[in-house]
Amino acid sequence: MAKEKFTGVKGMNDMLPQDAALWQFVQKTAVDVLERYGYQEIRTPILENTRVFTRGVGEVTDIVEKEMYSFVDSMNGDQLTLRPECTSAVVRAVNEHNLLYGTNQRLWYCGPMFRHERPQRGRYRQFHQLGAEALGMEGPDVDAEMIVMLARIWKALGVGPVKLEMNTLGALDERQAHRDALIRYFEDHKAELDEDALRRLYTNPLRILDTKNPEMQELVNAAPRLLDFLGEKSRGFLNRLEELVSAAGIEYTINPRLVRGLDYYNHTVFEWITDKLGAQGTICGGGRYDPLVEMLGGRPAPGVGFAMGMERVIELIREVGNVPVKTQTDVYVIHHGGDTQTKALLLAEAMRDLNVRVIVHPGSGSIKSQMKKADASGADFAVFATEDELAEGAVSVKALRAYDDGRTVPFAEQTRVALADAPKAVAAALATMRA
Ligand code: ATP
Ligand code: MG
Repeated sequence: MAKEKFTGVKGMNDMLPQDAALWQFVQKTAVDVLERYGYQEIRTPILENTRVFTRGVGEVTDIVEKEMYSFVDSMNGDQLTLRPECTSAVVRAVNEHNLLYGTNQRLWYCGPMFRHERPQRGRYRQFHQLGAEALGMEGPDVDAEMIVMLARIWKALGVGPVKLEMNTLGALDERQAHRDALIRYFEDHKAELDEDALRRLYTNPLRILDTKNPEMQELVNAAPRLLDFLGEKSRGFLNRLEELVSAAGIEYTINPRLVRGLDYYNHTVFEWITDKLGAQGTICGGGRYDPLVEMLGGRPAPGVGFAMGMERVIELIREVGNVPVKTQTDVYVIHHGGDTQTKALLLAEAMRDLNVRVIVHPGSGSIKSQMKKADASGADFAVFATEDELAEGAVSVKALRAYDDGRTVPFAEQTRVALADAPKAVAAALATMRA
């Protein structure tokens, strides 16, 4: 009978062990920075009631119109959705648990999101976002701080230069005036609109500006600009944001065509873009969403946030060649003959007490075959717990690799160490090597 082959779901990737160090580096580096700005982690379920997103993201968006994994729970008929983004879910949780009662919140999250898109480089059906939300604060100082924080994250990650684009979506009445002007403009050019644009003409004309259709770029470039419809307050908001971002020495451009794919934004919108990833060059998007908390049933409270695409950030780090190397194993314990296995297991425990990362050879085997496994493990040292050595209360230690830069390696020659002293000796040798 032919063996059945199993494959993962299209557009959903496995993160393999050889990539784990890089993923952990990115999350840890970003979170270290976030914590320096007072952000705390929040985790929400991967499933939410569909309404959280239809209401929170907006009905007339790419996400809700065609990208959501929604289904009916066959057990009880509930309408559920695999989260396509996390802002709505975080706000749902904040409202549900009254986290804004008498205070504000700085929150970060990291995890998988799901969108039914056409898979391609940098665009997947399961992808990961690391994001943050600052809730209960009006800005624009908070918006500016968020942008400064992101610049610090890019620097810490070593992603090279990324371009900051900002824009404002103004306030609701300004957007409405702009929207009327947009509709009039696009009505005058109806023949040039594609199917998506026609569909959005009266529902969400602002989103036509976000089109990826190259044949519509010229039309869209000449469309009425929201910037020309801004009132005093919105203008002041943007000016102050620009002032603060400039004062921090961060370069940016104002892109009047920048709108977010999500409906709930107002005032600040921004994107960080690289030219090193082809068409999927936006590594991070964010902005202000003052109406959202109330839209999702809470007492009105302003908010601003961002989400970065982990896959894109990681690919960018690879692209600029800044991948940090990290070994997974310090010591491989080889044991041979008699009851050396028990002693090897206990020796490994004693080393782990000292924070050493140890693999004990599983099962048995010749010393030669164990040595091959030790080499392949990437460990720095092999510890030989053989019957002869142990009979004399000793083990021997041997370095498995040399430094490229010619520094001396402890235990370069196989060296005998008293069994009781071995854990300390190995830990000390590792410490000098890592120094
Ligand atoms: P795009 O215009 O590329 O579709 P978006 O506006 O839908 O992006 P957001 O919803 O703002 O993106 O998500 C924030 C970030 O998450 C993006 O800037 C990107 O880095 C990442 N991202 C979004 N969708 C995907 C995806 N399908 N696969 C991988 N990363 C993604
Ligand atoms: Mg999208």
